This record gives sequence, C-alpha cells and structure tokens, in this order.
Amino acid sequence: MRTPLIAGNWKMNGSVALINEFGQAFSAAVSPTNVDVVIIPPFPYLDAARHAFEGTVLSLGAQTLNPIHSGAHTGEVSGRMLKEFAVSYVLVGHSERRQLYKENDEQILARLLAALSVDLKPILCVGESLEERDAGRTMDVVLRQVGYVMSRLEPDQRKQVVIAYEPVWAIGTGRTASPEQAQEVMAGIRAYQAGFDKGLAEQLRLLYGGSMNASNAAELLAQPDIDGGLVGGASLKIDDFYAICQSA
Ligand code: PGA
Repeated sequence: MRTPLIAGNWKMNGSVALINEFGQAFSAAVSPTNVDVVIIPPFPYLDAARHAFEGTVLSLGAQTLNPIHSGAHTGEVSGRMLKEFAVSYVLVGHSERRQLYKENDEQILARLLAALSVDLKPILCVGESLEERDAGRTMDVVLRQVGYVMSRLEPDQRKQVVIAYEPVWAIGTGRTASPEQAQEVMAGIRAYQAGFDKGLAEQLRLLYGGSMNASNAAELLAQPDIDGGLVGGASLKIDDFYAICQSA
C-alpha cells in the first residue's frame, strides 16, 4: 500500500562524473519497480543530475534549504531555487545538521514549512544518540523530535512528510540497528501519528537510516513499519545502491 522509498544521501561527496555514472547505470539497468528512488547530491551537482537522470527511475533531492525564499543570506539556498532544478525531496533535521550546524527543532520546523510552501517533500530525520539509547530514552527523544514538527502542521501538510529514523550511533559507523530495534521505533512513530489520524498513519512513509547496505537492507526493509531507507555511504557505490533498491 505504501510505495517504498530509497534515498541516497551523498552528503559532501561525489562528483559530476559519479552523477553521470549513476545516470548511465540506471538507464542501462532494469529499473527497480514499485519503488521511488531518490539521489540527494550536493547542490552544485543538481543541474548535472537533472540531465543525467532524465528517463531513469532516479529523482532528485536536496540536503537542506533555507527557511526563506530569497534575501541577504550569503551561502544559503532556498526551496524556490531547488524547484528550478526539478528537485522533489529535501532533507530536514539530519543529525549532522543538528550537531555540526546547531539546527534546533524550531529551525527545522521553519525549513520544513519552507519546503512544503514550494511543494518539496520534506524528509524529516530524527534519531537518538548512543547515550540517550543507553539511558533508555530512545522513544522519548524520537517522539519529541517528531512531535515538535508534526503537532504544528495542518493535516494536509502532515501527508507530505516522510520521516527517516536514523539512530545517530548507526550513522557512518558500520553499526546498523537490528531490524527489531528499528522496527520498534518505527512502530512507535506510526502509533504516535495514529493519535492524529489513523488513515494518515497508515500512509506515512518511514525510512530507516544508519549504515544500511546491500547485505542488511533486505532484512530491515522486510519489517512491517519500515518503508524504505536513507542510505549514506552505500549510496555512493552504484552496485550497492542498486542492490538496496532491488531489495525494497
Ligand atoms: P550512512 O548514513 O548510511 O553512511 O550511515 C546515513 C545518513 O546519514 O543518512
């Protein structure tokens, strides 16, 4: 019922050459069917990607956006600009943005609202640190992050949001959450959403992120509440990323 979504977050990696290789590989290969596949490259590669991915299953996402449309904000990029490059999705609240760039819930909400205002689908990233997990606070932390944003949206805005659960201790560490650990949190997020609207909770797409790779993807994606993946490191390797798309 929910179309799986596999998104490759390239972070500050890649090149125009890699964009072109992905475009060629995905036009030559049999397209993964019934799965939405998104590549999220750094801003400068969006235009090359828009051309290279034409006619393939690959669509485009961006890694962040500024909450306002234009103005004196040196170094920033707005959602309106992203729309000119055929971008459909945008990450908000990635743990690297929360930690390294000190983005708080209020700023994350502002970015998400800016995305919705120009018809970009936000992928809201949430997740607990290792200390928070060890202290038994995983569900509190995750539902606080989800709730801060979701409780401030109108029902039709909530429908547009994809949520990625990415335990911070699993990102880039090679230490994946077990399918059971991930499923438990995903089910909690869906139950929280059901508090607003049961139908909406059924439609909500939940992605797992954190060291997902070609070997562990199938088992994670087989969990009832995991509808896809937000893939970092493994999304830079065509064969691995293709294999993950095939397991969705
Ligand atoms: P990873 O990154 O797959 O390299 O752990 C995931 C992410 O940060 O989105």
